[in-house]
Amino acid sequence: MRTAIFGATGHLGTLVIDSLLERGSNPDDILALGRNQEKLAALAIRGVRTAQVDLDTETNLSEVLAGVQKVLLISTSDPGKRVPQHQAVVDAASAANVDHIVYTSLLQAPTSPLVLAPDHRATEELITASGIAATFLRNGWYTENHAQEFDLARQTGLIANSVGDGRLATAPRSDYAEAAAVVLTNPGHEGAIYELSGDATWDYTEFAQRTQDALGTPVRYQEVSPEEEREQLLAAGLDEGTAGFVGTLNASTRDNALAFSNGDLARLLGRPTEPLAQTLSTWV
Ligand code: NDP
Repeated sequence: MRTAIFGATGHLGTLVIDSLLERGSNPDDILALGRNQEKLAALAIRGVRTAQVDLDTETNLSEVLAGVQKVLLISTSDPGKRVPQHQAVVDAASAANVDHIVYTSLLQAPTSPLVLAPDHRATEELITASGIAATFLRNGWYTENHAQEFDLARQTGLIANSVGDGRLATAPRSDYAEAAAVVLTNPGHEGAIYELSGDATWDYTEFAQRTQDALGTPVRYQEVSPEEEREQLLAAGLDEGTAGFVGTLNASTRDNALAFSNGDLARLLGRPTEPLAQTLSTWV
């Protein structure tokens, strides 16, 4: 049974391949797809099949997928450009008679107020419209998204943003990757939708405390207003668009858009998700 992984050259995709190989998948049954030639070469050394594809330009995608039964579509990385890229994958999967598409969506995609949600909603809809059996892995926030704040706290002892007491149910990428590998290597997940997130939620006061525990130096959290945050981001060199994106994201996070947790991720893993403190301890 051959499985194609779109986004195999990315952080999550590489971890999915690690997990598939750890679980005993035959490397020859894995087709790793991405643009980055060096990363594809590093995967090929491990015995995995590879093909270079750029979803903006590839015209032979259904031929690339010949003989593939399962596709893992890891959402691409340019919000706004993703829907046609994902459509290209789904069209090719249809043409190649793929049996099952697994898509990494967004936590509570149909109702999420996050600025990132429309691309995921549209992708879920186009996959459903294709009629191919599908599994939606609605991934919550990666704990790694906060590595920069951890490093800043190491340098300054301060974490400041407008999230306030908004809560987040994060898990490390490796947990989401393992869940994808579980779904790809076990029967019975066709038609399922999983809301994947960490077992426990945290807010920034707790994040600062856990960061302090990990670093052994004082760290405090300071809530700032959205206006102050915008000024600070611009002063730090971000352009207007990026500062606006961060502000919108933080407003949704403040409203608990990333707080949902129903245990789906732990159930797929067959163990609790990795707690925040454990992930932070690996960043010291
Ligand atoms: P990465 O940026 O590390 O990986 C993105 C992958 O998408 C890479 O393999 C990249 O290929 C591939 N890709 C992007 N554009 C194209 C294209 N035009 N054609 C072919 N492949 C393309 O992201 P992560 O692995 O960290 O995360 C996976 C996805 O999850 C992200 O792409 C994003 O949609 C989403 N995400 C989720 C977050 C969360 O907290 N849940 C946070 C951030 C993103 P290559 O590297 O070879 O160019």
